[in-house]
Amino acid sequence: MTGAHSGLRLLAEPDGRESRDRLEILTALINGPGFDPLLRADVIKVPTEHPVFGWGCRVSRCQRSAHGTSDLCDTHRQQRVSRGGDEAERAEFLRTAEPLPLTTAAFTGPCRVSGCERLALGHRYRLCARHDNRWRKASAREHDTELDLDEWLATEVPYPSFGVCSAASCRDGAGSPLGLCPNHDQRYERAGRPGGAELPGGWFHSHERDPSSIAVRYRDEKVFRQWCREADPLLRIGEINLLGLHPLLRAEIKWGLFAHQRQNPRTRWLPVDVQNLVNNCRAMDSLTGFDLDNCSRRARGLTKEMLQSLRVVYVTPSQTREAGYLEFGSLRGRIPRFQQPL
Ligand SMILES: [Zn+2]
Ligand SMILES: [Zn+2]
Ligand SMILES: [Zn+2]
Repeated sequence: MTGAHSGLRLLAEPDGRESRDRLEILTALINGPGFDPLLRADVIKVPTEHPVFGWGCRVSRCQRSAHGTSDLCDTHRQQRVSRGGDEAERAEFLRTAEPLPLTTAAFTGPCRVSGCERLALGHRYRLCARHDNRWRKASAREHDTELDLDEWLATEVPYPSFGVCSAASCRDGAGSPLGLCPNHDQRYERAGRPGGAELPGGWFHSHERDPSSIAVRYRDEKVFRQWCREADPLLRIGEINLLGLHPLLRAEIKWGLFAHQRQNPRTRWLPVDVQNLVNNCRAMDSLTGFDLDNCSRRARGLTKEMLQSLRVVYVTPSQTREAGYLEFGSLRGRIPRFQQPL
């Protein structure tokens, strides 16, 4: 069944050879001197005030992210609506409204015992689970005299890490020998533990010191690995996480962001909207396979613009690219973009 937007499928999906050619072209462009270095990273960390992808609430010193199509966080948007949203008072509101702190600052740094490679729990001592356990026991033993945390820290030995999280979209440290970070561990549980990966009972006490000695048991390891490939990353404010994507899709999105920034800088694209799009097409090889008929309006808008910019790259004759020119649709005509031939 052909949907209403099938005419918007601007490019055919590539076959294997075409896919390699397209990746080669995009890789050259992305590594070229005209590309924005910020957008080269696989995890793009957008500064709050970025002119195009900036995500901060416009209220002075507010740390929260803008919400939806507004340039205010949800709370400040509601406050403004309840005060009538008068345009004339906007500047005054931005200056005088009470700034709000971040609410979801999940701490994922290392344990504070010198050299310890395990993740700290998100509480005030910032110790890993094992050191936290030891600290509690030590302070309970010394209940008469106050145990000095710094002195205690100096006597502790560090523990080796459990490696990096097995979810392809994640680089956080694993929280246990199962191989998932705390966030993905929770999601794995919520998903009903596909593939049935589990640790031997009592591992925490019996083998905790040497993670390599602990064998994870699976009902079906393939199913577990597939879950790991498809799991979305933890949503972090101001971050566009492209880890775990097919290399062509990843390059297409980087190029799409760059083209948007060049051509349409007045339209703000919030990282959270880009991330939602990324998560929607995680299983695809190329953005050209994206189903424009069955997605949100926001995702469709972003994808259509990205596909336009890719079309320009893909259909431009190679001589034109080699001469250092790319025709950017009909918007700006031919613009010199690269100082050296690709
Ligand atoms: Zn705000
Ligand atoms: Zn520790
Ligand atoms: Zn993870």
